[in-house]
Parts: sequence; C-alpha cells; structure tokens
Amino acid sequence: MNNISIPYLQMNDGHTVPSLGFGTYKLNGSSGVETMVKALKAGYRLLDSAFKYENEGAVGEAVRRSGIPREQIQVTSKVPGLRHRYNEALYSVEESLYRAGLDYYDFYLIHWPNPSQDLYVEAWQALIEARKRGLVRSIGCSNFLPEHMQRLIDETGVVPAVNQIELYPYFIQQGQREWHDQHGIITQSWSPLGRDSSAMREPVINTIAEKHGRSAAQVILRWHIQLGALPIPKATSPSRQLENLSVFDFELSSDEMSVISALDRPDGRRKDQHPAYYEEY
Ligand code: NAP
Repeated sequence: MNNISIPYLQMNDGHTVPSLGFGTYKLNGSSGVETMVKALKAGYRLLDSAFKYENEGAVGEAVRRSGIPREQIQVTSKVPGLRHRYNEALYSVEESLYRAGLDYYDFYLIHWPNPSQDLYVEAWQALIEARKRGLVRSIGCSNFLPEHMQRLIDETGVVPAVNQIELYPYFIQQGQREWHDQHGIITQSWSPLGRDSSAMREPVINTIAEKHGRSAAQVILRWHIQLGALPIPKATSPSRQLENLSVFDFELSSDEMSVISALDRPDGRRKDQHPAYYEEY
C-alpha cells in the first residue's frame, strides 16, 4: 500500500466522494479482479462499474480480496436502458447487489437517459426508493443533459448527486459543467484520458508535462481535478495506476489550464453518442 491520500469532495446529499476514481470497463473475470485489487492497494477508493460492463461480480470480489474495510471503498453501478421501468430499475439494483455480493452500493446511476424511451423519471423514482431502503447511499445519473436533470428535479424534487459525462481535453463540456455547478451536482469524467492516446500525444500537453516533470496522462488528470471534475481513469498496469493517482502534488497555472481547454472541439465526442438521441440498452 502507498500513502497517496486522495482529497474528498462534498456532495449535495451530505456524503463525500474521492476526487479521483478507477474505471473498470473491460476489466472482467479473474484478471479483472486482480487489476482492481492492485488499484485498491495502490490507493484508489472509488470503483466505477455498470450492469452493462458485466463485471459487478468481479468488482465485489476485488473489494473483498483487497482486505480494505468495505466502508473505506466506494462502489458505483448503473441502471441499463432496458431496465428503466420502476420495478425493473429496483430489481436492477437488487440484482447488482446479489451479483457483487455487497449489501449496498455507494452510487447507483441511470446510465443513459434514452429520451425516446422516456422512462428515465420512473428509473429515478426507483433509485429514490432504493436509497430509502438503504440499498444505495447516493444516487445520480450519467450522460444526462441539463433538460433531463431538470425534469428529474421538477418531477421528484431530488437533485442528482453526480452526473457522469464524457469529458476530456477535446470535449470540455463547459456549459454542461456550469449547469452542474449551479445545481450542486458533481461532474464525473468518463474516458478522462480520451481512451486512446491522441490527447496524450498533443504537443501542448507534452510541453506542459515536460515543464512539470510529469506524464501527459498526469497533466490531463490534473486538469480535470482543477476544473472541479472527478476523473475515473482505467489503467491495467500497477505503474500506470500509480501514475494516474499521483496528481495531487503539483498544480497547473491558469494559463496552462486555458491552453488545455483550448483543445476543445465542437465535434469532440469520441463517438457520436449525443445523449439527445443516442440510445443504449
Ligand atoms: P480512459 O480511462 O480515458 O483511458 C483508458 C485507456 O488509457 C486504457 O487503454 C489504458 O491502458 C490507457 N491508460 C491509462 N493510464 C495511462 C497512462 N498513464 N499512460 C498511457 N495510457 C494510459 O478510458 P475509459 O476506460 O473509456 O474510461 C474510464 C472509465 O469511465 C471506464 O473504465 C468506465 O468505468 C467509465 N465509462 C463510463 C461511460 C458512461 O457512459 N458512463 C462510458 C465510458 C466509460 P491500459 O488499460 O492498457 O493501462
């Protein structure tokens, strides 16, 4: 175990969350468990997963095998598009818990709004109920546009604690983040490194990295932290896991922040997954 300590962020429901987490997409089976155990031992305390990743069992196993007390680790899962009806969303939470072998999730999110299906408010009502029953500690959404979250708030009075969105230097989501800030919603950044190496190869990022004696990945993750967003990078090797965690002992200047944010592109989504029309089941 190392002694990197991750600062925690305050959420609008009274709980706190580590300001950087670990992504687990594609980490499945026994090798996935091993990778996650290493991440926990490296110091990560928030594991992101989803019904869709088919690895909730591996996540639960990693939590147990890590030897770290359950209450020191936060675990996320997400309702898939096929389970937005009230009863099905509640079953989704319960089935996720059975698969993971956990008593509660720290976070359960609605994975995508799927607006043409128009059932995300029902799914939200189910998550409110799951929280009441103690199955879930904090509830939130993912890939929701402001208009979708406004409906959740108007129809239930409950504001999401977090919204997990695509966010990296080519797609900085300025307006969306401002809306989150105005409503006290934590922005979590998915694919925070951009999943492939293009952003990490950007010359301006590498110039900043050289100046600080850091890697491009560390500069990008530090940029998320200073934006106030919570990145959840996934890394397989222990050296990258540690590298991605070591971002709390240097600071980017406001000019450096602006140079990175200027990489924003209007078409910056990695794939054409605009939540206004993209549907995922
Ligand atoms: P990512 O974390 O941006 O990038 C992961 C890729 O970067 C992997 O190929 C990894 O390689 C590599 N990498 C990691 N650290 C590196 C470093 N220091 N230097 C060089 N390369 C490095 O992409 P992601 O996995 O798509 O996103 C992170 C998490 O977000 C997912 O795992 C998932 O939990 C979540 N997510 C959520 C949604 C949603 O709809 N809510 C969508 C997508 C993803 P190795 O693995 O080989 O080390």
